Formats: sequence, C-alpha cells, structure tokens
Amino acid sequence: MKNSNTKNPKEQKAAPFQLNGITVAPGTRAKVELPLAQLYTQTPLNVPIHVIHGRHPGPVLMVSAAIHGDELNGVEIIRRLLRHSSLRRLNGTLLAVPVVNVFGFIHKTRYLPDRRDLNRCFPGSETGSLGARMAWQFKTQVLDRATHAVDLHTGAIHRANLPQIRADLSNQATAEMASAFGVPVVINSVLGEGTLREVAEAQGIPVVTYEAGEALRFEEGCIRAGVRGVLNVMHHLGMTGSRKTRAPLEPHIARSSSWVRADRDGVFLPLVALGAWLRKGQLIGRISSPFGGDDVSIHSPCAGILVGRNNLPLVNEGEALYHIARFDEVQEVAQNLEVFTSDIEHGPTLAGEPPIV
Ligand SMILES: [Zn+2]
Repeated sequence: MKNSNTKNPKEQKAAPFQLNGITVAPGTRAKVELPLAQLYTQTPLNVPIHVIHGRHPGPVLMVSAAIHGDELNGVEIIRRLLRHSSLRRLNGTLLAVPVVNVFGFIHKTRYLPDRRDLNRCFPGSETGSLGARMAWQFKTQVLDRATHAVDLHTGAIHRANLPQIRADLSNQATAEMASAFGVPVVINSVLGEGTLREVAEAQGIPVVTYEAGEALRFEEGCIRAGVRGVLNVMHHLGMTGSRKTRAPLEPHIARSSSWVRADRDGVFLPLVALGAWLRKGQLIGRISSPFGGDDVSIHSPCAGILVGRNNLPLVNEGEALYHIARFDEVQEVAQNLEVFTSDIEHGPTLAGEPPIV
C-alpha cells in the first residue's frame, strides 16, 4: 500500500519555507532582507537573501559570495544563476547570497571596518566583536537552514587563482560535490579555523569553496565556470532535471601544493600563465631591478600545474609569486584543462547576455 511517505519526491509538495519572518510558498521566489549590520550614520545594511523555493521537497543549497568583500566574481555568478531557466523546476530550495560582507563590498576591501576577516569569525557569538556578531547572525539565520553549501571566492588582491575547488575530501558527501562541480583541479584543503566552511562541515553541512580569478575584477571565464559548476552541483543533488550541457570530465585531486616566493626585492616578470604545465627546473619568471643590474631567474621547484599567481610586478623578498599544485598524472590534468578552457570560452554566458570582455 502506498502512503505519502513512500511517494516519489517529485510527486510530493514542499512545505512553505520561512526565513526571517517571510513565508515563501512552494514554486515561488522571494528576496528576504536580513538586517545584519548598520552604518554609524544609522543607515541599515541589509544582506539580501534570494530564496528560490521549489515546488517539490529536496536539499537546501546555500550559495554565498563576497564573504571577503572585494571578491566579486561570485557576485556575478549568483546574478547569472538567478536568471537560469533550470531554477523554474526545482526540487528543494536555493538560498543565494550575492554579498555576505556588505561592509567590505561597500569599501572595496576584503575586511570588516574593524579590520577583521569575517571568514575567520565563525561560528561567532551574539555579544562578541562586530565580525563575531555578523557571523553569528548569518550562521543561525541562513547557514543553519542549509543542507549543502557552495562558498564563492577569488584570489586576494593582485593574486589570481585558476578556477579550482577546495574542499575537505575526507567527507564523502563533500568529495562528491567537489567532483560534481566539474572544474579540472580539486585541492584537498585543511579547514582554516573560524571559516564558514569549518563550522558548516562540523555540523554536517558539506561545503565546497570555489576559488577563481582575482579580487576586484569580473573575469568571464571564471564566472562561466562558476555558474556551470553550481548548476552541476544542483544536478548532482537532484535539485534540477536533465542536464543541457554534457557531463564534466572527472577532476584531478592535487597530491600537494606549494608556493614559490621571491628571493629578492625588485620587479617581477612572470613568464608562465595560470594553468600552465610546469616542468621541474623550468624558467618561470625573473626578478630585475628597475634601475638596472643583474636579473635573478626563478625556476620551478617541481613539476605541476600553475594554480595561483601574483599579478603585481613590484615584489618584496619573501612574497608569494606562484602557487603550484602537484599531481600524479600531471599530463592528463594539463590536457583536461585545455579541453575545459576551450569549452568555457566557446560556451554560453549562462545568462543569455553578451559576455564581459
Ligand atoms: Zn576569499
């Protein structure tokens, strides 16, 4: 005998979704303003949360961007995601937060006004610092409602990352999301203390971090790969129906990664681009003096793929210049990257609009 509990989720109707006193009916969407902070001019700084509540029950996926206020690619990823046709038939709920650190976003900076990093303030507390209070509000009102999460980041200012997923691969569900996202490079990353990811994983919410591009920039390729990645994760979680694009290639997990630092102060001349396949000992850059004199050559300490790069030519001794990831099958990763990059470049913008160039 069939009862309502054994019904296929596609036949069941979802219950209304409540957030901050707003009720969102199944099959509808709403923008819920979360009062997370205030300027000292008494102007409220709300954090808008887009709630897309499917007709049928399913996972609650939180997608957040700009927890570091100057990391902008994720803001555009979410804007395009919200216009995507696959959200019309959704199982479960999408909670999309284009800007978490509204203070940093206004001031074009990574940090909060008290110079704290919001992504080191989790889980936060009701009576702690500004960062702790914001983190606490965000965690209790939004993150705790999610069953899965994708956190969108970029490199820091003047540093660019090859599109990559960072995740704690010791959790099976997280590893599956990392793989489903569909970018060729996955880095198993130890969770930093006080990060949203650490706190979420500790309470059983699998989270992947998408890192792509540089702070304070919109980069079309990073944005397209991000929109497609989130859609891939939603497909993997059973939130959306049949996939219009082909299934992504199986990503490769880096064995380890390390930074190449400047041996001296000077002007940095990079000779390799993000995604480059580096051989051990290969010449990858130079540091010269703006006033003449001898150059210092920089050679790759290992074979690997260039996954992060400093883009500012003025460097001090000890500064991180290159981030190289090592793989067991580096040639395959390089080949996959080529296919992936050309696919992204020639693919749709995923918002039906002209690309950012
Ligand atoms: Zn970040």
